[in-house]
Amino acid sequence: MGEREERIPEGEIHPLRPQNDGGEPRYPLLGLSRHRMEIDGEGVTTLVAGAGCPLCCAYCINKSVLRQAPTWVTAAELLEKTRVDDLYFQATGGGLCFGGGESLLHLDFYGAFRLLCPDWRFTAETCLNVPREAVVRAAALFDAFIIDVKTLDPVIYERYTGREQGPLLENLRYLADTFDPARLHLRVPLIPDYNDEADQAETEAALQEMGFTHIERFPYLIREDKQP
Ligand code: SF4
Repeated sequence: MGEREERIPEGEIHPLRPQNDGGEPRYPLLGLSRHRMEIDGEGVTTLVAGAGCPLCCAYCINKSVLRQAPTWVTAAELLEKTRVDDLYFQATGGGLCFGGGESLLHLDFYGAFRLLCPDWRFTAETCLNVPREAVVRAAALFDAFIIDVKTLDPVIYERYTGREQGPLLENLRYLADTFDPARLHLRVPLIPDYNDEADQAETEAALQEMGFTHIERFPYLIREDKQP
């Protein structure tokens, strides 16, 4: 097993001091990656990386980055940084994909930002291990989701992520029942030393039974310094 950093205590889903204390919502920006094609959603996409994640996956390549002090930006400030690609977004049906860590930690911000660029496509990368209310709000704000399921085996999940599955299953069922399946992309990895192809197949079958149709199975490629 790869060496795991200290876990975030149960119940504390954001490792950073909240900045949305009644004032204008702000987003903890770590970085932007422009001109991504068909990786993070349809069309030309800018990946917006934000800080904070409730999980502590053993092979996470962003773990130390997620705990760095971010730049807190307002909706107007993020628009200023991303609008340079407005024409690409409009022409290709693209937009922004919010990822980095857990995108659904910043919903107040998206509500404000969405008002400034209603025509852009918004995609959220999420592990869905967040309270149900967050998923309900996100379903009204985002056009698509990329869901990092990992595994539906609760023992393997906790061993790999450092956290119980919690509301993951009920959140998956909620989206399966309420959201367009064509706009839900689910990722089920083969995780060296944690699961195997049989577990991948079981997870995929359970997701298909829930009604999901876009399920991607793939192997994690582990960096040398992260190998057990
Ligand atoms: S869910 Fe993603 S960002 Fe969060 S710890 Fe796991 S791999 Fe890292």
